[in-house]
Amino acid sequence: MSTRCIIAIDGPAGSGKSTVARALATRLRFAFLDTGAMYRAAAVAVLESGGDVADAVACAGIVKRHTISLDPDAFPPRILLDGRDVGIRIRDPDVSAASSPVSASPEVRAILVQAQRAFAIDHPLLVTEGRDQSSVVFPDAEVKVFLVARLEVRAARRAAELRSKGVPADEAEVLHAIQERDLRDSTRTTSPLREVSGSLRVDSSELSVEQVISLIEAHLPVGAARP
Ligand code: C5P
Repeated sequence: MSTRCIIAIDGPAGSGKSTVARALATRLRFAFLDTGAMYRAAAVAVLESGGDVADAVACAGIVKRHTISLDPDAFPPRILLDGRDVGIRIRDPDVSAASSPVSASPEVRAILVQAQRAFAIDHPLLVTEGRDQSSVVFPDAEVKVFLVARLEVRAARRAAELRSKGVPADEAEVLHAIQERDLRDSTRTTSPLREVSGSLRVDSSELSVEQVISLIEAHLPVGAARP
């Protein structure tokens, strides 16, 4: 088995990255890193401090005063803000909306990218997902995947996920929120969402999680899986 294998999965909101990355990590017995959860925790810190999410410098100042970490003993790792589990809070719609402008701050990104690379040093067999994992954070990742799905499919998935948690969700509103977040995430100056050459592009619109995983598994380097 290789000593290092990083599988970097990037894609827009609702493309199924978290579900696929977590299931693949479980299958391979790799660690799993949800980098969106880190940006969401940063957004919680900004919201709780009453900061302006559109002010990149103020956001960075707030994030620097807090500690965002992952408890790797849990699977999936629990996301902690100053040691407090914010795993439920980060999925609230106000945090989803705030995470995108907060993540546009270059200083916030620098702090979290450093934490993501440190996580990979401790967990060199890793499935990581986000927007910039294959382009910026791990440009030398052994496997790069760009996961996409049609906008209506992504909105339907997100709405179903919210409803399953008892949160009422109007599909048209969810679609609009996703569209706004996609636009901001792919047009920002620092580390925009982009497909890099050499990545495996998978459209999950008509595929099951199992089918997406099979496509990725077919691209794993020989010996990547644990025996
Ligand atoms: O993937 P998720 O929807 O949890 O991400 C929340 C937000 O965090 C995204 O809309 C994006 O703005 C930001 N993000 C990012 N870079 C990452 C992961 C997430 O900018 N690697």
